[in-house]
Amino acid sequence: MSPSAVHDAVASVNDPEYPDVSIVDLGLLVSIDVDEANRSATVDLVPTFTGCPALAMIAGDVEAAVLTVEGIDSASVSWRRDVVWDTDRMSFAAKRRLATDYTVTLRRKDGTLRCPVCGSDAVTDQSMAGPSRCRSVAWCPSCRNPVEVMRA
Ligand SMILES: [Zn+2]
Repeated sequence: MSPSAVHDAVASVNDPEYPDVSIVDLGLLVSIDVDEANRSATVDLVPTFTGCPALAMIAGDVEAAVLTVEGIDSASVSWRRDVVWDTDRMSFAAKRRLATDYTVTLRRKDGTLRCPVCGSDAVTDQSMAGPSRCRSVAWCPSCRNPVEVMRA
């Protein structure tokens, strides 16, 4: 058993909202602590959006994945409230995947939005009641597409 095997196991878990995007690519992983003597691993994650109903599912998936690593008999997952997730934690690949596969965009630091379909900067917020509690809906007047905005 090696710590990198545990990391690989965590990285194999995809976000339930985006079934082909790893939670590691989304920047959810804070730290992994492997105790080889006790054959246990502790995984610290940061939620993208506090209260996101997918959190329990993600924690369960991570636990199950870590338990498949040879030499690990117990796994625990905790959500860190002292770490703030922001879009800088996401990998470039994850951002691009969200844009192309899910038309999800991320709010820039200055609050503006860029359309993932046509690249327009004219995207306007529509409603805070999005398809899930983790996303809200915006509208691009240039290409007339609805755009989902990932909440941070
Ligand atoms: Zn557009």
